[in-house]
Amino acid sequence: MKTIQKDPATRSCPCGSDVPYSGCCGRYLDGNAGADTAVALMRSRYAAYVLRRETYLLGTWHPTTRPTALSLGDETKWLGLQVLRHERRGDDQALVEFVARYKVDGRANRLHEISRFVHQDGRWFYVAGRIVEPASRRGDAAGSKPV
Ligand SMILES: [Zn+2]
Repeated sequence: MKTIQKDPATRSCPCGSDVPYSGCCGRYLDGNAGADTAVALMRSRYAAYVLRRETYLLGTWHPTTRPTALSLGDETKWLGLQVLRHERRGDDQALVEFVARYKVDGRANRLHEISRFVHQDGRWFYVAGRIVEPASRRGDAAGSKPV
């Protein structure tokens, strides 16, 4: 399959929104705008992982939980993002549940996480995430689940 290189600003956003990058997460990654919602911040942070934008990731991490550095290795290839749930909790807190698919060294993985965000000083910050363990596979073989 032929890959056509396009201007990063006009290609679809890495967060999978079908909106050009410049009108989606590019507004946050390359501009000064803060994400309006926790889910917008979550998507932009996923895009930042795809684009290996460490500074953006650290800048949107809440100071209380922010790591000193990130190592965004080339070995991780991000494949897609699916936001499952967005829940506001009062004025300044939100939860976003998502599944991110990626490959490391050719092996497919799936990250299912519930992330916690807080709104502070006019901006949303990522606080922490809880990994949702994969559902037990015991039931898979038993039922004749329609796909
Ligand atoms: Zn986006």
